[in-house]
Amino acid sequence: MSKPRVAIFDFACCEGCQLQIVNFEEGILDLIGAVDLVEWREGMSEQSHEYDIAIVEGSITRPEDEERLQVIRSRARVLIALGACATTGGVNKLKNNFDLPEVSQCVYGEDSKRPHLKAYPTKAADEVVKVDYYVHGCPIHRPELTYILRCLLLGKRPDIPQYPVCVECKASGNPCLWDYGEVCLGPIIRAGCGSRCPSKGFRCFGCRGYVDDPNVEAAKEVIDKHNLSVEDLKSKMVLFGSKQGPTNE
Ligand code: SF4
Ligand code: SF4
Ligand code: SF4
Repeated sequence: MSKPRVAIFDFACCEGCQLQIVNFEEGILDLIGAVDLVEWREGMSEQSHEYDIAIVEGSITRPEDEERLQVIRSRARVLIALGACATTGGVNKLKNNFDLPEVSQCVYGEDSKRPHLKAYPTKAADEVVKVDYYVHGCPIHRPELTYILRCLLLGKRPDIPQYPVCVECKASGNPCLWDYGEVCLGPIIRAGCGSRCPSKGFRCFGCRGYVDDPNVEAAKEVIDKHNLSVEDLKSKMVLFGSKQGPTNE
């Protein structure tokens, strides 16, 4: 049986999620053994228009990105969004809070008028095409990518957490940062990172996006207990939650 052909593509991003793949030596070796990697700009020089699985990193910020993503989608049986830039728009969506010509002028000055620097409000991959699987996080949690790929190879649907970071955090036995005056977004953010930040003493800043169907009442209880408002919580979500709905659907 032939191995599934996999291609990795990038759009507007820092390429940090691809770097996570490059740096994941033991995982990547397993992966290369199980699939046929046919295109990956960051890791090889070959290119191909024929692939079964497309892994897409980065946000869509220009009409030409949108066209390119649609072509990728039309060629792939399965499309995986890799990292927050692709799954939710990530930090790139911050710019959607501002006047775009003003932002462009501020960043590029006179060059902002150059055609290749023209951009529109940032979109996540699923605002342009159908996405089959999401590898959340900024950057991704590397074992989650190999887990999703392994499930795909076995014909199983990956089980991505539908519960908040607090569940993993409490299971790790961490003290709650709210009790130390931090506004941690754990109650409304999707788990799956192993509560990476609170386990190191940093608040969750929301890189995996909102959990589907959050337990609003429980979150409200935490907020009330600390005399804060939902707006306070939302204001802390600006880095990764700009112009997003309450879910990632
Ligand atoms: S999700 Fe974060 S680490 Fe990954 S490409 Fe985007 S900015 Fe970089
Ligand atoms: S709010 Fe943050 S620190 Fe507290 S339990 Fe949830 S994830 Fe952990
Ligand atoms: S704890 Fe929150 S910010 Fe940190 S990796 Fe997990 S989801 Fe992202």
